[in-house]
Amino acid sequence: MSQITKEAVVDILENIAQMLELKGENVFKIRAYGNAARALETFTGDFAKTVAESQLTEISGIGKAIAEKITEMVATGQLAYFEILKAEFPPGIFEMFELQGLGPKKIKILWDTLGIVTMAALEKGCKDGSIAALRGFGQKTADNILKAIEDRKKHAGIFRLGEIAPDAELLLQELRELPDVSQVSIAGSYRRRKETVRDIDYIVATRVPDPVSDYFVNHPTVESVIARGPTKSSVRLKSGIQADLRVVTNEQYPFALAYFTGSKEHNIAIRNRALARGWTLNEYRLAPDEKSKKMPEPIPPIYTEDDLHRALGLDYIAPELREDRGEIAAAEKHQLPKLIEVQNLRGTFHNHTTASDGRNTLAEMAAAAQELGLQYLGIADHSKSSYQAHGLELDRLLKQIAEIRELNKQWDGSFRLFAGIECDILKDGTLDFPNEVLAQLDYVVASVHNSFSMPEAEMTHRIIRAISNPYVNFMGHLTGRLLLSREGYQVNVPAVIDAAADTGTIIELNANPRRLDMDWRWWPLAKQKGVKCVINPDAHTTATLQFLYFGVGTARKGWLTKEDVVNCLPLGKIETVLASKRKGVK
Ligand SMILES: [Zn+2]
Ligand SMILES: [Zn+2]
Repeated sequence: MSQITKEAVVDILENIAQMLELKGENVFKIRAYGNAARALETFTGDFAKTVAESQLTEISGIGKAIAEKITEMVATGQLAYFEILKAEFPPGIFEMFELQGLGPKKIKILWDTLGIVTMAALEKGCKDGSIAALRGFGQKTADNILKAIEDRKKHAGIFRLGEIAPDAELLLQELRELPDVSQVSIAGSYRRRKETVRDIDYIVATRVPDPVSDYFVNHPTVESVIARGPTKSSVRLKSGIQADLRVVTNEQYPFALAYFTGSKEHNIAIRNRALARGWTLNEYRLAPDEKSKKMPEPIPPIYTEDDLHRALGLDYIAPELREDRGEIAAAEKHQLPKLIEVQNLRGTFHNHTTASDGRNTLAEMAAAAQELGLQYLGIADHSKSSYQAHGLELDRLLKQIAEIRELNKQWDGSFRLFAGIECDILKDGTLDFPNEVLAQLDYVVASVHNSFSMPEAEMTHRIIRAISNPYVNFMGHLTGRLLLSREGYQVNVPAVIDAAADTGTIIELNANPRRLDMDWRWWPLAKQKGVKCVINPDAHTTATLQFLYFGVGTARKGWLTKEDVVNCLPLGKIETVLASKRKGVK
């Protein structure tokens, strides 16, 4: 049997839907593929088993014909229908689908009228005015397409951490299990939990480099081999990212791991500390510096990074902090914070259900949260102005509150759903629902979802006005950025942090790996001002509750401890936090 994953099947189904739309096929057929892709995406059962037992049609949204196609993909690793369909189109056209704001309808018009089927032709058409002249396009559309092309060029070769993590971790796990491997880790910006990464660096300690290198370059996640050397190999993974393997001895391992973890600026500062002790430090060893004018200090034995930091007069510095942003001074003075860990989280507040644009029900989301070991889950579906996300009108919101209160009875206090909302911040900074309505909820997340292009001063005022409302507990995804695809809107972040401190508003760390917003660089300032953090996955499915993992990585990078993050508080204490801001309201 082939190794095709559920995710790969979802991609193919989506691709088929796009191609059918390009062909102008009937809408029901197109929708069938789109629906099947979405149904499969949110399916949480055992995919391989479901296919093997011919149970696919039991999944709502998957009909008999598509079930047969999925079965064919799993059995043979490909789909004849897909291959035939794909051959009808110029290959460049699929790249165009990746551009923000360019859907199949526009792509079809561009192809039919101007014969545009490549990115290069598209760019030319934007510049020479031919696209702007098309009916239904105009100058603004042409400019937007051009901007999307430029953004894409800028981001080529950069990947969101969350997207490459599954492959990266799988490969790590399998390397770890090799009998010849004594130690292994991913180094680089991935280990430092940067929001985007360019490559993945594996450091392996082994006595027998050859079989380990062979295993690496032949792994199923590998698409092509770039280089295979005695101590360093490079490959391109199927996700498109480059992965490098460095093979070292056990003695070299802590030095290689520290060196390749970086950052560059952090390494320079560390190396200077070694020099000051009369030592030289590189990726393989710490040794007496022959060029040193003074007598080198004796070098203690070093088996781990911890030993290395200690030899340099430092407490151990967690990889996330190694950005030369004060961590070395703090480590010297024993003032590094005890960083938050995933298992410190007790609940989360910004999550969607089928009531708005989520894919799972209240009960399913609650069950998934309990499975993750959480004590509580906050439901914050969209409010009415987010009509494209099926935002809740008042009657549906009241119905959901009642449903939540009802569901809560069954858990006898051992688990709790909180009734909240992700309330749109309107253009003038007022909220999508009046305070009488907000008062019926346990909490409110306020977010900006439209009019992104207002000037910075106006946007800042809009947000500050919103968080001054006593019912707003959390400021959602503060800048609205989508990593590698959309810049955040213009907003004065320090001014919002000050206002959050004044009003007792908690700022969200949106843990969706496309967002990771507010950015880790701002959290030390927020902490200094006394502003608390809430880590929210903004989950639209049961599976994406696990985005919390990426949120914790970012929080650690922002120097946060469990005391800084309110959803580390257990049931019984968190209620006080939710109620505190609205307490004085009459
Ligand atoms: Zn939102
Ligand atoms: Zn949301």
